[in-house]
Amino acid sequence: MASSTSSPKKPAVVIVGAGAFGLSTAYHLLERGYTGVTVLDRAEHLPAVDAASTDINKVVRSCYGDPEYTRLARQAIEEWRNDMWQNCYHESVCGVLNLGNAYTEQCIINDLEYGAKIERLCSNASIRAQFPSDLRNSGRIGTFTSLDVSSTSYINHDGGWAEAERAVGLLMEHVKKLGANVLPGKTVQELVKDERGQTKGVRCTDDSKYEADVVVLALGSWTASTFPSLNLTGKCLATGQSIATIQLTPEEADEYRKTPVVLDFRTGFYVFPPTDRDVVKFAIHAAGHTFAVPGSTRSTPRTIVSDPDNGLCIPRSALKELRTQLRGVYPALAEKPFSGTRLCWYTDSPDGDWVIGRYPGDSGLVLATSGSGHAFKFLPTLGKLVADVIEDKLDPKLAARFAVDRQVKPPNRERMSIVSQELNIDELCGPEDLI
Ligand SMILES: Cc1cc2nc3c(=O)[nH]c(=O)nc-3n(C[C@H](O)[C@H](O)[C@H](O)COP(=O)(O)OP(=O)(O)OC[C@H]3O[C@@H](n4cnc5c(N)ncnc54)[C@H](O)[C@@H]3O)c2cc1C
Repeated sequence: MASSTSSPKKPAVVIVGAGAFGLSTAYHLLERGYTGVTVLDRAEHLPAVDAASTDINKVVRSCYGDPEYTRLARQAIEEWRNDMWQNCYHESVCGVLNLGNAYTEQCIINDLEYGAKIERLCSNASIRAQFPSDLRNSGRIGTFTSLDVSSTSYINHDGGWAEAERAVGLLMEHVKKLGANVLPGKTVQELVKDERGQTKGVRCTDDSKYEADVVVLALGSWTASTFPSLNLTGKCLATGQSIATIQLTPEEADEYRKTPVVLDFRTGFYVFPPTDRDVVKFAIHAAGHTFAVPGSTRSTPRTIVSDPDNGLCIPRSALKELRTQLRGVYPALAEKPFSGTRLCWYTDSPDGDWVIGRYPGDSGLVLATSGSGHAFKFLPTLGKLVADVIEDKLDPKLAARFAVDRQVKPPNRERMSIVSQELNIDELCGPEDLI
């Protein structure tokens, strides 16, 4: 007689938010045989136009001062190379040029430890040599004389950039094929609890209700303001980060195509090679700006959706700083008009570590957020950590590190400025400032 070997039924999971955290979680649960996976997102069309994950491109680097992130990033980079990502990830011609300080010295040690293909760049000439000779010879590359070139700058050939929006779109289609129920236009407004106060589902603004054994909150920078009762102040802070773009002609773009991603850890400035639409994007990884809507003290994202008139506008001071920093790398590009700006919202934890864990005292509620400006590169693997939390098997060291109620450590040194400023709407740039 055949014995019954069926494995225990997997829990039904509702994931709120179809960004990097939410979709990667759905993917890894489905890969583990979960059948009841529902993803809810407030956006009518996905990927959500104002999600942090919906972007032209994101840096994929293993350059971290913390070896654990280097290890995780190296795993993610390995996955990015798989066919599943349909060449969303670009590394072959460029790599990542890390301009350094004490932080990058530690990154070099970590990258070497994990076998990354890196080269130290100990002179201005060796830094400039990372760019095409036509650009160098025509004075269109900075001199980098402001750098202390003792030994802390390096090129990492195992890294590059990802077409972020396309990658999220691919993953979303993939999880649908694997059986996830992905529902746009569902704004979750509250948790549904049982008589013991344990989360058993969510309710949306249209009064629809979704029941689950586990609810995963992956609302990115909306997490703290959507659920004030969870009191996530001090764990998930929404900060607006300024980015800008320049539209090149196809001929100009071809000249910059074979450049590395440049990441200056002294200032937080970074700039990408042109996209296939000949757009160059650049930004500053900084403390950013907070924004509290009237009547609330919690910082809340102010985006193109909440403020269609000027939700993409960045502070004039940030615009000026972006142009100054761009001049240091690509002087000729800095003289061009900007084609666009965007205030894009990080979810920051004070120590820069993600928040991935069960909410204390509520076995039905898991948080997967606080990307702190660096989670996108882990899209292929991030959800493994969340799935491990759901299955109570996350490595104890990681579980302690990402716990919702962990003791907060001092900020890491990845960003130069760590105190954010309140956004001043009167200081936002207009079209006339882009020229
Ligand atoms: C300017 C900028 C540059 C960055 N650069 C990099 C980089 O180069 N490399 C890197 O690795 N990382 C980078 N990051 C960080 C990375 O983008 C984020 O860590 C990551 O995308 C966060 O994903 P998420 O799922 O937490 O949030 P999001 O992508 O914002 O997703 C949250 C989702 O929740 C939905 N939602 C919100 N409220 C509700 C609700 N009430 N009900 C239902 N759904 C809701 C939203 O519509 C959205 O789709 C950058 C971030 C920014 C802002």
